[in-house]
Amino acid sequence: MAIHSVRRYPDPVLRKVAEKVTDITADVCKLSEDMAETMRAARGIGLAANQIGVALRIISLELEREAAPLVLLNPEIVEVASEETAEEGCLSLPDFYETVKRARQVLVKAITLEGKEFSLECEGLLARAFQHEIDHLNGILLVDHLSPVKRQLFRKEYMKE
Ligand code: ZN
Repeated sequence: MAIHSVRRYPDPVLRKVAEKVTDITADVCKLSEDMAETMRAARGIGLAANQIGVALRIISLELEREAAPLVLLNPEIVEVASEETAEEGCLSLPDFYETVKRARQVLVKAITLEGKEFSLECEGLLARAFQHEIDHLNGILLVDHLSPVKRQLFRKEYMKE
């Protein structure tokens, strides 16, 4: 296992639409382990493969601190219900937090590393984390959810560094 550095905005890999995983190869398993480890090291609650530079549809999520992180392949949100606005951050945008409106409840389908079908209905923070990570797989970042005015401010402030 290895801890990778988390790619930061505006790294172009964060804008790539990740490709579906078609075979659960040794490389995919190794990458999944690295993602889980990198996520924990960075103290994140979620990580998408693009964030360590690989444009494949793999996400890692922290369900409970005591349990092993959840790693899923080809995750999709198949149903959503109601909305909620809450503050969000992103490992690829250090020190940037913004309130974002998202679905409060989601039904997620995915494939596990064992090749089994996975389905989970969840809400609140976990539902938000799924939406955030699946956004990453589609090349969408937190900043894309801002209003045009806020996005301009973000570019001015954030890109100064
Ligand atoms: Zn993120």
